[in-house]
Amino acid sequence: MSHTTCVLCQVYRPKVEGHYPDRDRQTCDYGRRRLERDRMDVLSMYRRLAEQEEELVGTRSTDQGLPKDPIAALMPMANTPGRSKKPSVSGSKERQLPINVEVVDLLRDASWREPSAHEDQIGHLSVATVLYGWANYWRLSIDRTVTPVPLRVPELMKWIGYRLTRFVDEDPEIWRFAEVLIGLKGQLRSALGEQAPKPEVMWGVRCRRCDAVSTLVLDLDDPDRYRECTSPGCGVLMTDDEYKAWLVEIVETLRAERLAAGGRR
Ligand SMILES: [Zn+2]
Ligand SMILES: [Zn+2]
Repeated sequence: MSHTTCVLCQVYRPKVEGHYPDRDRQTCDYGRRRLERDRMDVLSMYRRLAEQEEELVGTRSTDQGLPKDPIAALMPMANTPGRSKKPSVSGSKERQLPINVEVVDLLRDASWREPSAHEDQIGHLSVATVLYGWANYWRLSIDRTVTPVPLRVPELMKWIGYRLTRFVDEDPEIWRFAEVLIGLKGQLRSALGEQAPKPEVMWGVRCRRCDAVSTLVLDLDDPDRYRECTSPGCGVLMTDDEYKAWLVEIVETLRAERLAAGGRR
C-alpha cells in the first residue's frame, strides 16, 4: 500500500503538508495514537454521562423519602416535553430539562433498525448505535466472523480496541471513523455540559518557518503536544521537544543580540 499522506492526519492535521505514513502502512504513529486516545476519550465520557444520568434518575425516584428535586421527580421518563427541532447548542452549560432527551438518545443501546431521515434530524443516534454500525461493518469486511458484535458501548469499545490496529492498516475508510469519534466527543461533551478545550496560544513566540508571532497553538486533545502554526499557508508542526529547543534558540539569539549591542557601545 502506498500513500503520500497519512490517511488519519488528513483528518487530524489537514493543514500539514508532506506528512508521510509509516513504511508499508497508510497511517503514521501519531495518527494511530491519536485515534486510540479519541477512542478512550469517547469511552470515558460515555461512562461519566451514564453515571451522571443514573444519579439524576436516582434523584427523581419517589421510592424512599423525599426526592432531592421535587419537580424532576414528578416527570416520568416517558412523559418528556416534545423534542426541540433546533440543533442543540454545543457547549451549553445548563441542562434545560430535568430529563435531557439528548442525553437519553446518546445513552441508548444499539438499535438494529436504521433510523429514518426524520429521526436523524431531531435526535442523536446513540453512541452504541454508531459504534455498532462500525463494528459490524468491520466484522463483515475485515474480521469476517459470524459472531455478532456486542450492543453496549463498553463491550463495543473493547471489541473495537482489540482489533483497531488491524482495522487501521486494512480499512482505507478508517479516517471516517476518526471523524466519527471526533463527532461523538463533541456530542458527549455538549451533553455533559462541558466546553471543548480551546487551543492554547503560544503568546509572543515567533514561528520558526513564517516568522509570524503568536500563531503557534497547542491542541489540548493532542496526545503528543505538537505546536502547529495557524498562519495561512504555513502549517509548520513542531514536536514538544522541537518547540522547547526552539524556545531555547530564541532566547540564545536574543542574548547574543544583546551582547553584540553591548559590545558596540
Ligand atoms: Zn499521520
Ligand atoms: Zn508559521
